[in-house]
Amino acid sequence: MQDIMQQKREAGSVAAHFPEVANIVMNMTYNQRGTKSILRTFHFTPNSYAFFIVNCLRQDCVDGGFDLTQVITSMIRNRRVEGKGGLICKGTDTSTSHSDIVYEVAIQYTEIAVL
Ligand SMILES: [Zn+2]
Repeated sequence: MQDIMQQKREAGSVAAHFPEVANIVMNMTYNQRGTKSILRTFHFTPNSYAFFIVNCLRQDCVDGGFDLTQVITSMIRNRRVEGKGGLICKGTDTSTSHSDIVYEVAIQYTEIAVL
Protein backbone atom coordinates (compact mmCIF):
# COMPACT_ATOMS: atom_id res chain seq x y z
CA MET A 1 0.00 0.00 0.00
CA GLN A 2 2.84 2.37 0.81
CA ASP A 3 4.32 1.48 -2.53
CA ILE A 4 1.22 2.76 -4.27
CA MET A 5 1.32 6.03 -2.32
CA GLN A 6 4.93 6.49 -3.33
CA GLN A 7 4.10 5.83 -6.96
CA LYS A 8 1.25 8.30 -6.79
CA ARG A 9 3.43 11.04 -5.38
CA GLU A 10 6.02 10.43 -8.06
CA ALA A 11 3.36 10.56 -10.77
CA GLY A 12 2.72 14.26 -10.11
CA SER A 13 -0.56 16.04 -10.61
CA VAL A 14 -3.01 15.85 -13.48
CA ALA A 15 -2.54 19.59 -13.99
CA ALA A 16 1.22 19.20 -14.36
CA HIS A 17 0.90 16.54 -17.05
CA PHE A 18 -2.34 17.55 -18.72
CA PRO A 19 -3.09 21.25 -18.13
CA GLU A 20 -5.94 21.07 -20.64
CA VAL A 21 -7.90 18.56 -18.56
CA ALA A 22 -10.68 19.83 -16.31
CA ASN A 23 -11.68 16.44 -14.96
CA ILE A 24 -11.64 12.75 -15.63
CA VAL A 25 -14.23 10.21 -14.55
CA MET A 26 -13.54 6.52 -14.80
CA ASN A 27 -16.51 4.24 -14.33
CA MET A 28 -15.92 0.55 -14.30
CA THR A 29 -17.53 -2.74 -13.62
CA TYR A 30 -15.15 -4.95 -11.77
CA ASN A 31 -15.70 -8.66 -12.33
CA GLN A 32 -14.01 -11.22 -10.18
CA ARG A 33 -14.47 -14.93 -10.52
CA GLY A 34 -16.84 -16.26 -7.92
CA THR A 35 -18.06 -12.89 -6.66
CA LYS A 36 -20.64 -10.32 -7.66
CA SER A 37 -19.64 -7.57 -10.06
CA ILE A 38 -18.76 -4.32 -8.37
CA LEU A 39 -19.24 -0.85 -9.79
CA ARG A 40 -16.27 1.40 -9.11
CA THR A 41 -15.92 5.07 -9.92
CA PHE A 42 -12.75 7.15 -9.87
CA HIS A 43 -12.81 10.91 -10.18
CA PHE A 44 -9.77 12.99 -11.06
CA THR A 45 -9.43 16.74 -10.86
CA PRO A 46 -6.39 18.84 -11.87
CA ASN A 47 -5.09 18.47 -8.30
CA SER A 48 -5.34 14.68 -8.34
CA TYR A 49 -2.32 12.50 -8.87
CA ALA A 50 -1.90 11.52 -12.51
CA PHE A 51 -1.93 7.90 -11.49
CA PHE A 52 -4.35 5.76 -13.44
CA ILE A 53 -3.64 2.29 -12.15
CA VAL A 54 -6.58 0.67 -10.42
CA ASN A 55 -5.98 -2.06 -7.90
CA CYS A 56 -7.35 -5.56 -8.14
CA LEU A 57 -9.66 -6.46 -5.27
CA ARG A 58 -8.68 -10.08 -5.08
CA GLN A 59 -6.99 -10.57 -1.73
CA ASP A 60 -4.13 -12.80 -2.79
CA CYS A 61 -3.50 -11.08 -6.09
CA VAL A 62 0.21 -10.48 -6.69
CA ASP A 63 1.31 -7.44 -8.70
CA GLY A 64 -2.14 -7.15 -10.18
CA GLY A 65 -4.21 -4.22 -11.23
CA PHE A 66 -5.51 -2.44 -14.25
CA ASP A 67 -3.36 0.15 -15.93
CA LEU A 68 -5.40 2.80 -17.70
CA THR A 69 -2.46 5.13 -18.21
CA GLN A 70 -2.21 4.35 -21.93
CA VAL A 71 -5.95 4.71 -22.40
CA ILE A 72 -6.13 8.09 -20.66
CA THR A 73 -2.97 9.45 -22.26
CA SER A 74 -4.04 8.59 -25.78
CA MET A 75 -7.55 9.94 -25.18
CA ILE A 76 -6.14 13.28 -24.05
CA ARG A 77 -3.68 13.40 -26.94
CA ASN A 78 -6.59 12.93 -29.36
CA ARG A 79 -8.92 15.20 -27.39
CA ARG A 80 -11.42 12.40 -27.02
CA VAL A 81 -14.15 12.87 -24.44
CA GLU A 82 -15.29 9.27 -24.20
CA GLY A 83 -13.57 5.94 -24.22
CA LYS A 84 -14.61 2.38 -23.51
CA GLY A 85 -12.87 -0.91 -23.23
CA GLY A 86 -11.86 -3.79 -21.06
CA LEU A 87 -8.77 -4.94 -19.23
CA ILE A 88 -7.78 -8.17 -17.55
CA CYS A 89 -5.90 -8.17 -14.27
CA LYS A 90 -2.21 -8.50 -14.92
CA GLY A 91 -1.64 -10.24 -11.61
CA THR A 92 0.76 -13.13 -11.66
CA ASP A 93 -0.63 -15.34 -8.94
CA THR A 94 -1.67 -18.93 -9.56
CA SER A 95 -5.14 -18.07 -10.76
CA THR A 96 -4.68 -16.13 -13.98
CA SER A 97 -7.51 -14.05 -15.42
CA HIS A 98 -9.25 -14.10 -12.05
CA SER A 99 -10.65 -10.62 -12.59
CA ASP A 100 -11.31 -8.07 -15.26
CA ILE A 101 -12.86 -4.65 -15.72
CA VAL A 102 -15.10 -3.08 -18.29
CA TYR A 103 -14.48 0.65 -18.19
CA GLU A 104 -15.91 3.88 -19.49
CA VAL A 105 -13.80 6.99 -19.31
CA ALA A 106 -15.13 10.52 -19.70
CA ILE A 107 -12.79 13.49 -19.92
CA GLN A 108 -13.68 17.16 -19.80
CA TYR A 109 -11.30 19.77 -21.09
CA THR A 110 -10.76 23.27 -19.82
CA GLU A 111 -10.85 24.98 -23.19
CA ILE A 112 -13.97 25.29 -25.25
CA ALA A 113 -13.81 22.85 -28.14
CA VAL A 114 -13.12 24.47 -31.47
CA LEU A 115 -15.34 23.23 -34.26
ZN1 LIG B 1 -5.73 -9.50 -9.70
